[in-house]
Amino acid sequence: MRQPLVAGNWKMNGTLDSVQALVEGIIAGLGEVQNAEVAVCPPFVYLETVGRMVGHTPIALGAQNVAKEDPGAYTGEIAAPMLTDMGCKYVIVGHSERRNIYGETDTLVAEKYDRGLREGLVPILCVGELLEEREAGKTEEVVARQLDAVIQQVGIGGLGKGVIAYEPVWAIGTGRTATPEQAQDVHAFIRERLYSHDPAVALAIRILYGGSVKGSNAEGLFGMADIDGGLIGGASLDAGEFLAICQAG
Ligand code: PEP
Repeated sequence: MRQPLVAGNWKMNGTLDSVQALVEGIIAGLGEVQNAEVAVCPPFVYLETVGRMVGHTPIALGAQNVAKEDPGAYTGEIAAPMLTDMGCKYVIVGHSERRNIYGETDTLVAEKYDRGLREGLVPILCVGELLEEREAGKTEEVVARQLDAVIQQVGIGGLGKGVIAYEPVWAIGTGRTATPEQAQDVHAFIRERLYSHDPAVALAIRILYGGSVKGSNAEGLFGMADIDGGLIGGASLDAGEFLAICQAG
């Protein structure tokens, strides 16, 4: 049985005050969340504060990115051991904003995945197609390429230690959610592809959906056979909305 995971990706949002209020709100409503594991991924500078606040709760801490390098002369980067030092369990790698705004390649994403894994972090690998790729019928080709880069780097066993988030880029921050059926089709494709490498990994790995998930559409999405929770952007900045999504998990 795969325990659903609902992870909030706060992106580059928040102030010390707003972040503390958000965490307090989530902790206050956590008793209503029955099934899902809940995680929050604040900006790096708030990891320590949030880590301290959630330390005695079941809420897991995650980071939004990690360097592929070991600690050293890499100005502006954050190394994997720093994330474990702050109490992180998860690290997001390959978010479409990293791929498309900052030019992260499949190879770099795979190296980051590998570095996080070697530090004992659980990488959340984001995959997903652009609108033009979907319209050109290339969704499966793109997602397969993004997955294969990581399998080549860490093997199917390494991929099995992480979490996958299918996030169609056209649905991220646009208010345009994939229908449960559209999302399920791609999730099933991912699981089938992994099955050909290792059935046990394919059946055990959690595949999250991300892209304009809200309290009002979470249940339909999370009710699909191969959707094991969500990676939540905008809606994770509102405690009530985020908790409603967590309750659907
Ligand atoms: C995301 O950034 O991972 C995401 C899914 O964003 P949103 O929920 O705002 O579409």
